[in-house]
Amino acid sequence: MITLGTYSIGVGDRFAHQAKAQLEACILAGKAGIEIIPVWNKSNREHTIIGSEPSSTRAAADAAVKALGWTKPYFCDADHANLTTVDWFLAPCDFFTLDVADYIGKPAEPSSIDSFVGRHSELVGVIELEGVELEGMGRGIEITPELLRATAAKFLFAIEEAGRIYRKIEAAKGKGKIIPEVSMDETDSAQTPAELLIILAAIADEGIPIQTIAPKFSGRFNKGVDYVGDVAQFGREMALDMAAIRYAVERYGLPSNLKLSVHSGSDKFSIYPAIHASMKTFSTGVHLKTAGTTWLEEIIGLAEAGGDGLALAKKIYAEAFDHSAELCAPYATVIDIDPAMLPSPTKVSGWTSEQFTAALRHNQGSPAYNPSFRQLLHVGFKIAAKMGRRYLDLLEAYESVIAKNVTENLYARHIAPVFLGLEK
Ligand SMILES: [Zn+2]
Repeated sequence: MITLGTYSIGVGDRFAHQAKAQLEACILAGKAGIEIIPVWNKSNREHTIIGSEPSSTRAAADAAVKALGWTKPYFCDADHANLTTVDWFLAPCDFFTLDVADYIGKPAEPSSIDSFVGRHSELVGVIELEGVELEGMGRGIEITPELLRATAAKFLFAIEEAGRIYRKIEAAKGKGKIIPEVSMDETDSAQTPAELLIILAAIADEGIPIQTIAPKFSGRFNKGVDYVGDVAQFGREMALDMAAIRYAVERYGLPSNLKLSVHSGSDKFSIYPAIHASMKTFSTGVHLKTAGTTWLEEIIGLAEAGGDGLALAKKIYAEAFDHSAELCAPYATVIDIDPAMLPSPTKVSGWTSEQFTAALRHNQGSPAYNPSFRQLLHVGFKIAAKMGRRYLDLLEAYESVIAKNVTENLYARHIAPVFLGLEK
């Protein structure tokens, strides 16, 4: 059976040019004494927007691993796959994120709900969760008969759908040959730790050997910018989620390495200390899924290079500015751009390399950092995709300056604070 290590990071590589620079960040982590398993993730949505195929992600990952002599495991993730999109991921991928967020709230058969509730009377009452008293949260979580039934009614159909996707993948790849994740993050309301525990019982009943689960946490996880919400509440929620996972592993026989997967996990600097602390308390890991961060580092590298690199970075911004409504639409629930904060393309055309990179780079201490500018470029990768060779040629021409930014961002701003507990 293939298993995911305790600490893992999901990396996105939209244009399949940065796998080596990303892997370098894991090598740096190894030198600092911690094993971080890289997982290259790219969703159907991203492949469609860019015009790439899942096999290209696999080829880029394999080439990077070979070039750098990486001997530890690594995986390719069919991110947010469902029954209709999973086919082209089957051959190249070995990690599958079964996305059933769209099925939450659809009604399951009344008889399935009845039998689930009848089977799981152990969930009613106060579920004592080991470890949470350390966090000052009492003994555990309380589930009433009403909550058990309401949660089953809300999630059971979605979990049955996850089972259908999983069985399709297992039939193609073989038992124990993949790492399954269930994701429910792209939905309107967060799942509570009590709901998570009930969901895990249902996933175990469905026979899905999940190794990671991606709930929606409270607060906003916007793309490419910091967490917005109550950091202390997030910390309590994460601790209870980890305790619930530990309980579910023991009680329902789920894989012992089951852990949380944090989607839109890049740039959430204010909650990284809480994630690190909870991992220590519960002796567990997380899968930190990042994605578009690397594309932004490509733009930063081009701008830093100056000359035609800076000119192209400005051109991409100008076009993203002109097409902002269209670019933002698919990401409406995961971005918050203030149009008044967006500089005009005319203004940006006069910027130096330093001005451009200072506005874009996620350095919260810098007065020039502009989160709206950053988010618009984050969703603007379609502009670069349309440029085709013109964009890729410059990525290749300025590979070293871009790679330095990609590695540094992943290691110093993500791996170090989350997994090593270092201040950024
Ligand atoms: Zn997600």
